[in-house]
Amino acid sequence: MKKEFAVIGLGRFGGSICRELSREGMEVLALDLDEDKVNEYRDIAAHAVIADSTDENVLRELGIRNIDHVIVAIGDNIQASMLTTLMLKELGIKTITVKAQNDYHEKILSKIGADHVVHPERDMGKRIAHNIISNNILDYIELSDDHSVVEVKAGSKMSGRTLVDLDIRAEYGCNVVAIKRKKEVIVSPMATEEIHESDILIVIGADKDISRFEKNLV
Ligand code: ADP
Repeated sequence: MKKEFAVIGLGRFGGSICRELSREGMEVLALDLDEDKVNEYRDIAAHAVIADSTDENVLRELGIRNIDHVIVAIGDNIQASMLTTLMLKELGIKTITVKAQNDYHEKILSKIGADHVVHPERDMGKRIAHNIISNNILDYIELSDDHSVVEVKAGSKMSGRTLVDLDIRAEYGCNVVAIKRKKEVIVSPMATEEIHESDILIVIGADKDISRFEKNLV
């Protein structure tokens, strides 16, 4: 069954979500105040409407309460983003994802009851910083303020050695939860698993431990 989504605010972030969901065959209602933006999405989204999301009557008339998941991607106008989120919550939307502009905005959105608050610029900044530290860091996902998951290329320092040789858990306090080897994924690898140079390791741990691991082994 097709899932229904609404994307409010068709800037770079909302626009990209709208394109991707539509490309995946999802039914998307795209909404923006700006006529030019809406016109850009007429042929992409299932429905594209010019509307102000801070107007509760507009939201009701659009039947937004029947939509499973609404993404609020309003940029700089923090007040409009918060008001929209509050109204969506009151209308009983099951899942609301909101883009936050800063930490203060993020806190309020969580208090209002947004289900997911995303901070794409901050998160992408962190990912890129890790990638700049080492070209072998392929991806970086923040789990909490002080824990993350990183995806790293094994490289020559690890090649030919087993997890027990490298003693990653005792030495760095991190865990290798999976190894990607070409098309194969070895989940929960054994301590005796030998690492190949082209392997990709998925490592979980506290940020301070991951950063020691990155400095010494990656
Ligand atoms: P990004 O940083 O993702 O590019 P922008 O600030 O450029 O974000 O885009 C935010 C979009 O949200 C703009 O297209 C703007 O017209 C739209 N927007 C702002 N306020 C409202 C509102 N009340 N209702 C609908 N759309 C809005």
